[in-house]
Amino acid sequence: MAESTLAQRLLEGDRRALARAITLVEDNRPEGWALVREVYPRTGRAEVVGFTGPPGVGKSTLIGALTRARRHAGRTVGVLSVDPSSPFTHGALLGDRIRLTEHFLDQGVFIRSMANRGALGGLSEAALQAALLLDAAGRQDVFVETVGVGQAEIDIIDHADTIVLVLMPGSGDSIQALKAGVMEIPDVIVINKADHPLTDTMIREIRGVLSLANLDRTPEQQRGVWRVPIVKTEASAGKGIEQLVQSLQDHRAHILAAGQLAERRARNLRSEVLAIATARLRRRLEDDLREDPEFQRLLDRVVQRQLDPASAAGALLERVG
Ligand code: GDP
Repeated sequence: MAESTLAQRLLEGDRRALARAITLVEDNRPEGWALVREVYPRTGRAEVVGFTGPPGVGKSTLIGALTRARRHAGRTVGVLSVDPSSPFTHGALLGDRIRLTEHFLDQGVFIRSMANRGALGGLSEAALQAALLLDAAGRQDVFVETVGVGQAEIDIIDHADTIVLVLMPGSGDSIQALKAGVMEIPDVIVINKADHPLTDTMIREIRGVLSLANLDRTPEQQRGVWRVPIVKTEASAGKGIEQLVQSLQDHRAHILAAGQLAERRARNLRSEVLAIATARLRRRLEDDLREDPEFQRLLDRVVQRQLDPASAAGALLERVG
């Protein structure tokens, strides 16, 4: 009998095929892109939840607890941990980074960390491709975890169906980011380590920020608007996880009923197509210009202050356009 192709094994949910496939996209190998092309029609079924928040608040612990709950409910789980600051690639030190050691032997759980910036379009694109592969492999729940609240991390998280911001009492930075509008309002907010005495103060502060965000809306807009729940958890003790599962399900039901899931996904796919196209254009431009004497002359004039950077860019685009 002929050996099954990687795509076939992936679609059957084979974990080794999945690991291999993600390595291919992470390394920006043509086989990786071809594989995603082949299995793409089989994607769109996974429920993708993104987790963001400062390091140390307990995202990994929370995902571990959530994974346990979803496995008990009979669902298969894929976890992608995206950490641009980590020098480790290909899942190295995974057990350390993700507190999911109890799940390593469970065939129903697939865990992978990604840190490689080298892929075309960057880590964010590679992570999105990896999420598609998990989806194609039949993972019912896909949890994407990112570290920090930088732009790259937000790009990845934006592609989730539901976005969870994890905070802990005393970590004021993210509330500031929410307040300043740097961060989009998440769908669900988790206050982990909720046994801390400042938990309720923090919740009041967050409610204040959320109601400010609501002031911009007309009464019609406010009707049917999702009210962001604030869930208290103690991930390491498994407390509050049922409420979190409930909030995730409520959010999903809400966006399905309001037709927002399809809308959200269409918007996310549009930005994904644009991001990949932009990355390729940039690469093509850089390749074309590397040995281009005219481009060099243009740059020299900018350096000598004879031409401003924007005019030089305009001249360049006219030439290559
Ligand atoms: P991440 O960087 O956001 O992924 O955070 P981790 O999941 O690695 O957790 C950071 C530390 O907080 C670890 O030592 C966890 O054991 C601890 N931790 C996680 N959840 C809780 C909690 O609910 N209460 C307490 N006290 N510690 C917790």
